[in-house]
Amino acid sequence: MSTLFRHLPSVDSALSALESVKDMQSLPRPLIKQLVNEFFDICREEIRSGVVAEPDELKLEALLPRLAAFARVGARPHFRRVLNGTGVVIHTNLGRSLLSKSAIEAVAEACGHYSNCEFDLSTGQRGSRYSHVEKILCDITGAEAAMVVNNNAAAVFIMLETLARGREVIVSRGQLVEIGGSFRIPDVMTKSGAVLREVGATNRTHVHDYENAIGDETGALMRVHTSNFRVVGFTKEVSLAEMRALGDRYNLPVIEDLGSGSLYALEGEGLLGEPTVQQVVAQGADVVSFSGDKVLGGPQAGIIVGRREYIDRIKKNPVNRAMRIDKMTLAALEATLRSYLDMDEARRQVPTLKMITASEEALKSKARRLAEVIRKRLGKKARVTMRKGMSRVGGGAFPEYDLPTTVVALAVKNISAGELREALLKTDPPLVARIEDEEFLLDPRTLDSTELKLVADALEQAVSASAS
Ligand SMILES: *Cc1c(COP(=O)(O)O)cnc(C)c1O
Repeated sequence: MSTLFRHLPSVDSALSALESVKDMQSLPRPLIKQLVNEFFDICREEIRSGVVAEPDELKLEALLPRLAAFARVGARPHFRRVLNGTGVVIHTNLGRSLLSKSAIEAVAEACGHYSNCEFDLSTGQRGSRYSHVEKILCDITGAEAAMVVNNNAAAVFIMLETLARGREVIVSRGQLVEIGGSFRIPDVMTKSGAVLREVGATNRTHVHDYENAIGDETGALMRVHTSNFRVVGFTKEVSLAEMRALGDRYNLPVIEDLGSGSLYALEGEGLLGEPTVQQVVAQGADVVSFSGDKVLGGPQAGIIVGRREYIDRIKKNPVNRAMRIDKMTLAALEATLRSYLDMDEARRQVPTLKMITASEEALKSKARRLAEVIRKRLGKKARVTMRKGMSRVGGGAFPEYDLPTTVVALAVKNISAGELREALLKTDPPLVARIEDEEFLLDPRTLDSTELKLVADALEQAVSASAS
């Protein structure tokens, strides 16, 4: 066995052989070298365990195909594209919203060239980075002023820090939400230096609950959109109009964390219970914050709109600098917002909206095409069927809504649904699927028509990997 080790090729010869392989030349040499060393470690282990017993198996020509495959996998960037077969449109783990074509182009333009990011082209002086989106945000939402930070968590924090630090903020017990990733309203409140004053009960809060809690210490009245759950049954929530009236009577700002922040009225699509930003502004909220990459369908951002006096104070808060929005994000956000100047255009251009509002007919036809390419590729190895199913909006929006869809169910010979799903995480590109009642499902809602062939590629890879 020990003599076998000596038959391993030298690292240098393996390196030069590998560098002559297609699409290996562009990889950084130190990275390839590291991968060659890792590969040889595996070979040594195979010699030790007796898997390799013949010197011929260790010849460079014999090893090269495996080495190249190993290096190709090992050299992939860590951040990768995946195929979303789950039907969850705003899938937080898979990157939430996809950008529209115009937003993607705007990002490329912004990061490949110098720009007027913080430069006023009318004066030649320093400008404000918020100027690129402030007017359009006001035009669309009807608010007096607007600004943006990195994400909605930051937006909530800076709203509270600016308007209520050291003072009490009155919130209904029914709205003390935790969303994923350990964002909890009470914790954010504490960190901002504001003091949470809970009122009412989990299921019912009345106007007099808020009113009784108002005192010298009160800094604001706050509403939080109960994003990822609904309180149903014997419930009572105080309306924004009622809170507005209270705010006026006691001269207190009414602030709202809207979570998703839809600009498009999805009620028309039968999706109820999620107010648009325009409605919340019109009903008199003083400051409203929402995400850029949930239902709005833009880049990750926290958007704050409302009365000028409050927005100006938030802009001047030094903490703002620590949550400053990046130029690529600004470019993507402006482009996304421009689509909303015409709502029909938004629905056609913004992928998140397009996927949420896809018609049952269109989904059925896409499912049929998906089933067809899979059948063609896997042949007798799989049984491919279609049936009615449900998709989700995700991102904490419309939690109780199931969006009707047609799913493609797949049963592969000798491979369980769980095994198949696992094998698909290692394909190129990886495919994330759904399992329901031990059945492997793909939802066409979150797969673009141009991706159906890639889904078949991934399935073919996964099936052959699982079979071997
Ligand atoms: C999603 C959400 C947030 C956090 O927004 P991010 O953009 O993820 O930071 C805050 N509040 C509510 C109610 C939410 O739904």
